[in-house]
Amino acid sequence: MSFEHLNLDERLLKAVEACGFQEPTPIQQQAIPVILDGEDLMGSAQTGTGKTAAFVLPILHQLLQRKPTKKSIGPRCLVVAPTRELAQQVEKDVTAFSKFIKCPQGSLVGGVAYGPQIQMLKRPVDVLIATPGRLLDHMGQGRLDFSRLEFLVLDEADRMLDMGFIGDIRRIVAAVPEQRQTLLFSATLEGQVLRMAQSFLKDPESIQLTSNVKKHEQISQRIHWADDATHKHHLLAHYVKTEDVTQAVIFTATKRGADALVSHLQRQGNEVAVLHGDLKQTARKKTMDQMHHGKIKLLVATDIAARGLDFKNLSHVFNFDLPNTAEDYIHRIGRTGRADATGTAISLVCRKDWDALVSIERLTGQKLHRDLIEGLEPRSSEPKTRSTLGNAGRSWKPRRRGGSLMRRRRR
Ligand code: ADP
Ligand code: MG
Repeated sequence: MSFEHLNLDERLLKAVEACGFQEPTPIQQQAIPVILDGEDLMGSAQTGTGKTAAFVLPILHQLLQRKPTKKSIGPRCLVVAPTRELAQQVEKDVTAFSKFIKCPQGSLVGGVAYGPQIQMLKRPVDVLIATPGRLLDHMGQGRLDFSRLEFLVLDEADRMLDMGFIGDIRRIVAAVPEQRQTLLFSATLEGQVLRMAQSFLKDPESIQLTSNVKKHEQISQRIHWADDATHKHHLLAHYVKTEDVTQAVIFTATKRGADALVSHLQRQGNEVAVLHGDLKQTARKKTMDQMHHGKIKLLVATDIAARGLDFKNLSHVFNFDLPNTAEDYIHRIGRTGRADATGTAISLVCRKDWDALVSIERLTGQKLHRDLIEGLEPRSSEPKTRSTLGNAGRSWKPRRRGGSLMRRRRR
C-alpha cells in the first residue's frame, strides 16, 4: 500500500515524500481512513511505529478540507502529550507535514519562559501541542479559547496516567467542546487507559496492533546478572568498548545515579551527556540536538526523559538500573529498533532489580536471555524460585560470549 491510496491532500503527500517515507506503517494504514471518516479512535501500537503521522496527517487533511466553525483564534486541534520532549517530537512532525500548507502551530510545554507562549496565544493557531501542567496554567489565566476546537488528541495516554495526569486530563477534556473528534494513543489499551478512553471518546473505533509490542521482536534483549554497582560499571565499560555501539541511551533509576554514572563514564574517557528533569530546557535541547547529529555517543537518562526520545541511529539501550514498572521497560527499550531498524537492549540486573525483572518477564511473557562475559561472571546468582514463569526458564543455558579483551579477572 502506498500513501497515495489514503486519499490525503496532495500537499500532504508531497510533505510525506519530502520526509522520505515510502509507505505507510500498519498503524497509519489502519488509523488514517478511520480518522478521515470522522470517527473517534483509540489506537495502540508499539513505540516507533509511526503513530504521530497516523493522527497528524488525517487531522491536517480535515483542517484543509473545512473552514473553521467559529470566528476565533483558538486552536482547532489540541494534542496533549506527557513530556516536553514528546510534545516537541509531535511539533516537529506537524512542522514537517505542514511544509506545503499554511497551518500555524504552537506548543505549550513546561520548563520554558511564559512570555513567548503568551505572545503565541495572541495569534491564530491551528494546531496546539501541550503538556498538561503548562496548558492548565495558561487555561487558568484565561488565555485559551477552545470555541473552535475540532480535534483533541491524547498521545501516550498510558504514560500520562503513569505520571499522575488523570485529574489534569479530566479538566482539559471538560474545557473543550463536547462536539469534537477525539483520538487516544497508548502503548497498551488495558485497565485504566481503556476506562479513560471509554469516558472521553464517543463510540470509538479501536485499533490494536500490539501483538508484537510486548515482545519487541526487532530488538535483541538480554540481561546480565550483576553482584553490585561496581560489577555493573565493569559490564557497561566492557560493552561500551567492545560491542558495536554506535549510539546508546543508558537508563538509571535516579537523577543522582545518572550524574554519578556520567562522571564514571567520563573518567573512562567516554564522551557522554545526561538528560533528566533537573536540567534547563536549553541544556536539554542542546543535548538532544547533539544526539540527533551524532555528536554524542552515550546519553545517560532517567525515565522522565525517555518518552520523547527518538534517535534514528540508536543501536543500544542499556538499563543500568531496571525501571520500577514493566511498562517503563517497554518504553525504554522502544527507544532503539525504531521504524525498521534493529536494536539491542541490555539490562544489568542485581538483587535490588529482581522484583522489576520478575514483573517485566510477567508482562512480556518472555524470559529474557541471560548473558555472561568471560572474566566478568557474577559471584552471586539469581534467586532460584521463578514463580512468575514456572518452569519456562529451566532449560535455559547461559550463552558464553568471547571476551578476550576482558580475560583479565576483575578481582
Ligand atoms: P510512535 O509515536 O509510534 O512511537 P513515531 O511517530 O515517533 O512513533 O515514529 C517513529 C519514527 O518512525 C520517526 O522517526 C518517524 O519519522 C518514522 N516514521 C513514521 N512513519 C514512517 C513511515 N511511514 N515510513 C518511514 N518512517 C516513518
Ligand atoms: Mg508517539
